[in-house]
Amino acid sequence: MNKELLVIKKRYNLKEEEFNFILTSVFDRKLYQIYLSEKLPKNKIKKIINICERKKTEIPLPYLLKKAYFLDLELYIEKGVFIPRAETELLISLLENYNQEKIKYILDIGVGTGNLTIALARLFKKALVIGTDISKKALKVATKNVEKYSLSNQIKLYHADLFYFPNYQKYFNHFDLIVSNPPYINEKDYKNLPKAVKNYEDKRALYGGEDGLLIIKRILKEGKIFLSPKGKIVLEIDNNHPIKIYEYAKELYSSFIFVNSLTKKIRFAIIS
Ligand code: GLN
Repeated sequence: MNKELLVIKKRYNLKEEEFNFILTSVFDRKLYQIYLSEKLPKNKIKKIINICERKKTEIPLPYLLKKAYFLDLELYIEKGVFIPRAETELLISLLENYNQEKIKYILDIGVGTGNLTIALARLFKKALVIGTDISKKALKVATKNVEKYSLSNQIKLYHADLFYFPNYQKYFNHFDLIVSNPPYINEKDYKNLPKAVKNYEDKRALYGGEDGLLIIKRILKEGKIFLSPKGKIVLEIDNNHPIKIYEYAKELYSSFIFVNSLTKKIRFAIIS
């Protein structure tokens, strides 16, 4: 093991995964190769120390490193844009057995870094994926990521409040999938979020009104007209939401499937 690295890690008292995140982003090499090198370039060591110093102020690492990871994607990110969460990766696995040929139009509401948008485009290669966000900064970042993965032909991004991108009427009865990881945190939970989240991430990407359902209800109500006859709405939700969602939307939709995350809490809804 490289001694210098061990000393730094200990000095800054960083979690294993945080320290490894810094190492891989600075070195662009496999983790074991980094740990096994006897000698590492001085300027890189300096850079690591510099990042560790700044990390003391609670800034989430992806903002310091301008990098975030989602599935096999390495994404560009800037301060204030929602950091992709590992839990959301499961949403994509839920769609893996869908018929690739039949999905032609997808809408992703609230693109953030573009993580879901890009993953969807890569999974459904024949689909046009439209993404919207209320944050101009998120759109700027997502655009960069879409270009990085050469998907500008397949993905169209718009600055819009949920569905209302230019000429949205053209897409009535069109979307085979409407996907969103919407803001769903309620008032009480929002107050208790760690500072690292509250002080740096965009409230609009997290806070879903008093009961957390403000945007989810809008998506269900306003989204119906955009769905194709067999279309599905796929959402990330809070564990306390299923019954409320069902009660709210039972007149609008006939099928409600709720899916657990790996922690056994309900995290996703598939509604049609
Ligand atoms: N779609 C992005 C994600 O899932 C951003 C979500 C958001 O802004 N609430 O990470």
